[in-house]
Amino acid sequence: MLPIRSRFARLMAFPLAMLSLGQAALAGEAPAPADPKLLVAISVDQFGADLFAQYRPHFTGGLARLQQGAVYPSAYQSHAATETCPGHSTLLTGVHPARSGIIANNWYDVTLARADKRVYCVEDEANPDSSSKQPVVSAGHLRVPTLGDRMKATWPQSRNVAVSGKDRAAIMMGGHRLDAVYWWQGRGFASLAGRTLEADALAENAAVLAAVGKGSPGLPVPAWCGARARVVKAGDVGLGNGRFAVDADGFDQFRVSPRLDEATLDLAARLAGTMQLGKGAAPDMLSVSLSATDYVGHAFGHEGQEMCIQLARLDAALGVFLTRLDALKVDYAVVLTADHGGLDVPERLDQQGMPGATRVDPALLPGALGKQVAARLGLPGDAPLVYGDGAFGDYYVSRDLPADVRAKAITALADILRAHPQVALALTKDELARVPLPAGSPQDWSLRERARLSYDPERSGDVVSLLNRAVVPIATPGPGYTATHGSPWDYDRRVPLLFWQKGRAGFEQPAPVETVDIAPTLAALIHLPVPAGAFDGRCLDIDGGEVNSCSGK
Ligand code: ZN
Repeated sequence: MLPIRSRFARLMAFPLAMLSLGQAALAGEAPAPADPKLLVAISVDQFGADLFAQYRPHFTGGLARLQQGAVYPSAYQSHAATETCPGHSTLLTGVHPARSGIIANNWYDVTLARADKRVYCVEDEANPDSSSKQPVVSAGHLRVPTLGDRMKATWPQSRNVAVSGKDRAAIMMGGHRLDAVYWWQGRGFASLAGRTLEADALAENAAVLAAVGKGSPGLPVPAWCGARARVVKAGDVGLGNGRFAVDADGFDQFRVSPRLDEATLDLAARLAGTMQLGKGAAPDMLSVSLSATDYVGHAFGHEGQEMCIQLARLDAALGVFLTRLDALKVDYAVVLTADHGGLDVPERLDQQGMPGATRVDPALLPGALGKQVAARLGLPGDAPLVYGDGAFGDYYVSRDLPADVRAKAITALADILRAHPQVALALTKDELARVPLPAGSPQDWSLRERARLSYDPERSGDVVSLLNRAVVPIATPGPGYTATHGSPWDYDRRVPLLFWQKGRAGFEQPAPVETVDIAPTLAALIHLPVPAGAFDGRCLDIDGGEVNSCSGK
């Protein structure tokens, strides 16, 4: 039920203030929505605002239902480093990466003993069993609690559950205190070290194993997808007309297909039923991150038949999932958004009236930059001098250099980057630290302000570099990896943000909001007390009428 105060305000606003709520409904006013007992947060990985705008007229399943709620078609992942781990870290913490500490999928600790110096965002690198390639998964790097963590701290009976196609998405949405957590790992769903798989996960894994074991033919092509089947070459990779056939034991083909989302949603629905989520003494949290749109986007880009099939299947699978939640007979509220957007393969952008999109110059890869720095300073070029996770973002200079030489190497690296025609902005760590935190509308922020929100004093690189618009940071496309995201440009920052709950009237608001607004919005729905200043975002009134979903505490 609504809290007394807002119910009172609602009655007073009605011309005949003595009418009961039942009479108000008879008079044509919708009944007040109930307080949700279950929050369901869904992230569709790489489902940017442009994909949503392009496909939303075709949705008939779960996405059709959700877009009848409060729709913000242009929400912002406001920061510069638009990768999966930072993006997911904003969704349920309500803070930007500069505060969550999750500045990238990977960063570098040049003091680490391991040769590659690389640290994975959800890794416990202090665990001797962990390596950057096979990390021991942990939420230890996340400097703040998630909404599920806060709910459990306030209401010990709350359950916090997360399911995803990726470990980093499950952990960043779920946080530090998870009653159940699963992510896809190679040939089945896995959980944290030391946890045994529950019956639902074992059943899901058995079902997937049986299906993938015998393989499956290509998926049917919806009539409206056929027109997109035009083959494009990205390097040696042909794409545009794929249908996701899976060979016997083709677990990687399964992963890069709509079937991964179907399995993730099936496991989430199983857990909701078995754990009786929403039926306990306190509200529960279920986070679901669906990774297939991202894998399909990386492999095949956005504008071919493959993405069309993926989004049609996702819409249908979400419809089945919501119907299964309905069957639990609990009041639940859903938020659906994305961790970042993305850009199509430059080769197809070129054909579709967007000449100028291009692939990054391999001279911007860390190894090549290290050689340029060494040549400029007359240093031996054989030892690794510059570390980094690709041809953009954070670069780290080796600690093996004497301090004065290292300072010169950082200056040289920044100069080399600034002189490169594909680089829009390069800042040293000191320069970035001095940029004030931005305020106001995220669509107006400068590149350096966007970069500031991806800055962490311990984890950021010695130099941070942002590429020009439409420079795709994959120098050489290969199978499974032709297109990507990660830039500070709006095609990577803008994501849809949808809130839905039975009984809440919908509306659409095209003005920009932020994904850090999600946690305060959901906290208000369940009247969760949160200390002032805990969030970077603000509560969005998702009723958009006389009732205000934010003023209910
Ligand atoms: Zn992602």
